Amino acid sequence: MNLREVKVIHSKGLSVTKAFIETTRRIPCPTDECQNRVAIDIENILADVFCLKCKGSWTLYRLLQLAMNNPHKRFWLDLEAICLWLNMSKRELLKVVDDHDIPKHNGLYDLSAIVKVRNEVASF
Ligand SMILES: [Zn+2]
Repeated sequence: MNLREVKVIHSKGLSVTKAFIETTRRIPCPTDECQNRVAIDIENILADVFCLKCKGSWTLYRLLQLAMNNPHKRFWLDLEAICLWLNMSKRELLKVVDDHDIPKHNGLYDLSAIVKVRNEVASF
């Protein structure tokens, strides 16, 4: 493989990663009446999340609480984002998914179900 081929493969990889982030790292705005979706920046998970429509803003901790307490809004997230949010390894998270029948949707996982299990099981 020459250098040019390596560069082409690398740029393809980058564009796939970018599309993945843009389609998956969005959750419903936690405000009851707001139909907007808010973007979460997993590169900067301690930053507040803002909704441009209702002007709400939330910390990570608050979002996790809201995800658990509001059954009308499902926060579907990919494995990598959930690992970062909950400070878990992928292996730990996949075990929880398998052991507790965590709901899945298009390759994404129900964040609130995972948080609930984590709060109930003292060992992780
Ligand atoms: Zn909103």
